[in-house]
Parts: sequence; structure tokens; C-alpha cells
Amino acid sequence: MKKYFLLFSFMLLSSVAFAASTAYQEQTLERTAAVTKIIKAPFTTNFMGIYWPHLPNFTYNKNFYVRHSSNGKQWSSWKEVLLMTEGPDENHEPFDYGHLIYTKNANFIQFKTEKVDFSKIKLNEFHFVFIDSRKPPVTLTKKKAKRSIAGEEFVITPRTGWGADESICWKTENPTAQESVTHLFIHHSALNSNIPHEECDDAIRAYLSYHVTTHGWSDIGYNYLACPHGMLFQGRRFSVETTTVDGKEVVTTKDVIGAQVSKYNKGTLGICAIGSYMGEVQPSQELKTTLYRYLLWQVTHYGIDPLGQTAYTPAGAKEAQTLQTILGHKDAPAASTECPGDTLHPVIPLLRTQVAERLKQPPPK
Ligand SMILES: [Zn+2]
Ligand SMILES: [Zn+2]
Repeated sequence: MKKYFLLFSFMLLSSVAFAASTAYQEQTLERTAAVTKIIKAPFTTNFMGIYWPHLPNFTYNKNFYVRHSSNGKQWSSWKEVLLMTEGPDENHEPFDYGHLIYTKNANFIQFKTEKVDFSKIKLNEFHFVFIDSRKPPVTLTKKKAKRSIAGEEFVITPRTGWGADESICWKTENPTAQESVTHLFIHHSALNSNIPHEECDDAIRAYLSYHVTTHGWSDIGYNYLACPHGMLFQGRRFSVETTTVDGKEVVTTKDVIGAQVSKYNKGTLGICAIGSYMGEVQPSQELKTTLYRYLLWQVTHYGIDPLGQTAYTPAGAKEAQTLQTILGHKDAPAASTECPGDTLHPVIPLLRTQVAERLKQPPPK
């Protein structure tokens, strides 16, 4: 199946972009808000991303917005483009990226800025990424995880279950197995919208496309994903090791180092809650249950105290920081993000307690 992906860098209204007069340029510099013309999408787009040259010392706060339309007449509300600080430890990209925005079936988009200093960035330096990740629906297959929580069945959707395009992944390197895991990060995908379950696999394929093709990473950044409807998905490819035990070949899979919290990837795993947990949107009970089971699974497997705080030394740092073992992306010091959103973040202490309580009980017979 063809994978549609296009980078589209738009031209600003020519009278502004190419104005030669000094007076006009001064006028441009004084502006802090701008709205583009309506931009026609190159194909019907279900997810879009935006990136722009890195702005040093710029605190992003309600600056960039997108709206979308299928027919050019009825428009969505303006959706804020939220800064994405997920990424590998070694990050030398000259751009800042927004989280993907769910546009369902957009044929037109419009972009606007607020509170932007146009002496630092020009409108025509913004790049738009259009993605159509719809395919004939894949059957969302589940399989029992190899690791089990004491006495409880655990179900995970493998990469084949969401239709990972393996041909674009891991072309120049292999996944690096985690030596140990001490901390578990929780993210949200900041899609700016709720998404129906039939499209959850579309969303994961869109993240894969954005992370690999746009960012240049080897695979989707998150180790796992959970959808609002309660399914748990494998994200990043596992490391697969074959050993011989008593003359028999034994294949084991191991979690690998992700690209989910820049500088905090080694020894940590990241799960992304699909959806946007800001403002009015509350995490569903199904999502909370899935996160609880996932955390129970990981703390059991790696011997993590769910209520504990342990030392972590971020990549490139000299001193260790004390971090809760189960934490949100924004709990990483200096992570400039709202992730996992103001309604999911307060759930994390409850999840820690729930997991700790469960560990005190004997496994069910
Ligand atoms: Zn995050
Ligand atoms: Zn779903």
C-alpha cells in the first residue's frame, strides 16, 4: 500500500515575503500575529505536523494554531500546536517540532501565529507535513505478553497489529536493548482531539511516519502506546536475542532505548496515551485501567518500587537527579512540555498507589 507523505513548505503572501521597501519590512517586524491564506492540502490529510527553525530562549506559550476543513467552508476550531520535546538523547536537530494534529479528513488548512517576534522567525520558515496514514483497516490482533503479571493475563497488540511499516525502520542502526529499567514515563500524544477507536492504528502509523521520515529517528519514539479505548500497543521494535539453552534455541525480546524524553531515554521506558488530555478532556476509565496494568507489568518485571524515588543521571549531566520511578514527561527537570496533559498528569499518583496496593496482595489463583 502506498504511503503518502509530503513535506510542504508554503510561500507567504508574496507582497509581504518579497517586499523590498524598508518601511514595509519594519511593519513586518512589528507584527506579532499573522494568519496565512487558506492552504490546499496535496491530498486528504488525517494528521499533520509543523516544524520551524529552532528559536533559542523562546518560551512557547499559545503561539501557533492550525484549523482544518474538508470542504473549505466548515472549519474546525483553531487548534494550538503544542511543542514536542520527545526525542533521542543526542539531539542536534536545527528545528523545533509541534505534536501531530489530528485533522480527520482535511483538504484545507490555515495557520496562524500569536505573540511571535518576526525579527526572529519568518512565516515562510514554517514547514507543514501532511500525512495520510489510512490504509485498508488492519485487524487489531492481540497476543499475550511473554511476561505476565503474577497470575493475571496480559494482552498487548504487536507491531503487526497496527501495521508498522518495517521497511522504513532501523536502516542504519539496530535497536539497543535496555540494560536495566529504573523509571517509567507517561506521555500523551497531544492530538488536540479525541479519536475514534477505528482510527487508533492510523494514529500510531502517523507517529511512526512523523518520527522516522520527518525527524529522522530509526523508529517510533515511544516504547508503548495505550488508546482511550483500553488497548495497549507495542511501540518501538524490541531487541530480539537468540540463545541456546539445553540444545534448544530460545528467543527472548527485550525493551530497547526509546526516543521519548530527550536526555532521559537510557534506563527508562515511555508509554504514550493516545489523545490530548488538556482542559475538558478527561482520561477514560479504560485508559486508566490499561496504564495501571502496564505499570504493574513493568514494575514486576524490572523490580521497580512504584512509590519510590531513585537517582537518575540524564545524558550529558554531571549530577544525578532524584526522580519518582513512575512519572510524567513534564516531571523530567527542564522538559519544556505540558505532557501528559493537565488532566492525565494528576492521575499518576493514583496509579502509583494502585500498583503498590496490588503488589501487597497475593496473586489470584
Ligand atoms: Zn511527552
Ligand atoms: Zn482505541
